[in-house]
Amino acid sequence: MIVRLDDPRTAERWCRDWMASGRSLGFVPTMGALHDGHLALVRRARRENDAVCVSVFVNPLQFNEKRDFELYPRDFDADVKLLDGAGTSMVFTGTLASFFPGELDAHGELVESAWRDPGEPALGLEGDLRPGHFRGVATIVARLFDVARPTRAYFGAKDYQQTLVVRDLVRRLGGPQIVVCETEREPSGLARSSRNELLSADERREAVVLYRSLRAARDDWQRGERSPRALAARMHSTFERSPARVEYAEVRDPERWTRAAPTHALERAVALVAARIGKVRLIDNLRLDEPLREPLQGPRTEVASER
Ligand code: AMP
Repeated sequence: MIVRLDDPRTAERWCRDWMASGRSLGFVPTMGALHDGHLALVRRARRENDAVCVSVFVNPLQFNEKRDFELYPRDFDADVKLLDGAGTSMVFTGTLASFFPGELDAHGELVESAWRDPGEPALGLEGDLRPGHFRGVATIVARLFDVARPTRAYFGAKDYQQTLVVRDLVRRLGGPQIVVCETEREPSGLARSSRNELLSADERREAVVLYRSLRAARDDWQRGERSPRALAARMHSTFERSPARVEYAEVRDPERWTRAAPTHALERAVALVAARIGKVRLIDNLRLDEPLREPLQGPRTEVASER
């Protein structure tokens, strides 16, 4: 039976007691509205550790749009049930004030000294389009690691740039072993996301265009295309007949993050895309140089017929 804790201090005691027994602890930080993508992280953490703890906290520090924060789906009771079913030992949540006791000013804002620097991987793409986002991510992740002090922490490749920010943070400040898990997709190829809940049925169908653009870039890569500019153009062309509004569609060298897209031919590549479907902003990415893990029925034929 899962232990449910509403106060980070109690969670901290639970984790200290667990670690004191000499057993390992896997940790999965989330913002709730859980889906199979989150649960895949939990299951992997369960396989690789003696216990799993999960945090559910819609972190206001990482939202650069107030409306996005307000609309973000929340259902803690449903989350706890799903986590229990997936073998989670403990789930905790809290408020900004309980995560940062004594570190909020009179306006409820986090004081300067409590923030953490997200480092170089925060530059470019998500970091440029969502000012302050990765600073908020680095700050809460560092605090969550302080609370849980886990053996390993699990993150999804779905938030590619975030995994770079977290790895960099741990390199600088210390922390658990970071494990990055593959992106879980719906049968259509659409990456599972809490924000998918905010899409209408039509918009959900339209949203597959993000994955289709990544697959198109991958098809070109397979045919020998290595130019970042050409790969990006191919991704953009996928959106031509779509109502989705592209924010970026670019490639990067996965071994060497750069703020701007590289201009030279690449030996390895990850394609990254962000687009708005109606009011909902979605992101996705795909390694172009690695074997593909097919969703149950990916839109392969649609990609082919578009050419
Ligand atoms: P979030 O609740 O959106 O902050 O996500 C919590 C964790 O789950 C992050 O490490 C995400 O990258 C990961 N995650 C979200 N969606 C997926 C997915 N479709 N596949 C794998 N991991 C995911």
